[in-house]
Amino acid sequence: MKLILIGAPGAGKGTLSVPLKEKLGIPTISTGDLLRDAIANQTEEGIQAKSFMDRGALVPTEVVFEMLKKRLQEPDAKNGYILDGFPRNLEQVKLLESYTDIDYVIDIEIGLDVILERLLGRRVCPKCKYIYNTSWGGDSVHCAKCGAEYITRSDDNEETITKRYNLFVEETEPVIDHYKKLGKVIEIKSSESEEVKKQAFDALGIN
Ligand code: ADP
Ligand code: ZN
Repeated sequence: MKLILIGAPGAGKGTLSVPLKEKLGIPTISTGDLLRDAIANQTEEGIQAKSFMDRGALVPTEVVFEMLKKRLQEPDAKNGYILDGFPRNLEQVKLLESYTDIDYVIDIEIGLDVILERLLGRRVCPKCKYIYNTSWGGDSVHCAKCGAEYITRSDDNEETITKRYNLFVEETEPVIDHYKKLGKVIEIKSSESEEVKKQAFDALGIN
């Protein structure tokens, strides 16, 4: 099965991807994670991408798609995958469609107020990618899964979040409309993670 997760920044795509990949036995491939790993490893692509990401702009599609294609060719992706963060505009839809067919697009809807509250409190484990929020209380320094120290993403500040949200409305909502016309969209209307999971699993007929 090949799935796309779509939603504004902070909608909970990363959170939903965890039970989905466990249930379906396919990897989640996040272009944001691929880019952040490239930056951490100081690769050529990473160096190119960093300034775009830090100001909340899209990284040039060629850079992202080359990285993505390499990742999609790895053996664990041969039975399918969950794409998180790609495609983000109609140009990327075209490229993806020339490369492969997608079964479903899961669209998680959420408002800007919830997004700001969430992303300002978001902490990410650089090692295992676990996502924690300071609003949950408890240890806000060490990863609950692997013990590494959380980081705050450099693009999780109010100015950049607002920019990313506006970019989502302008560039990514047309992507959702495109897949709606193809009848592939599963719409999720909740911001509560258990409910998001339930709606997605029900729509996919898995449990
Ligand atoms: P979020 O969903 O919280 O915005 P992501 O991790 O998906 O975060 O993306 C972070 C940043 O990485 C984006 O703001 C953008 O700069 C870059 N990025 C990720 N995916 C893409 C993509 N498909 N095309 C262009 N830039 C991307
Ligand atoms: Zn961890």
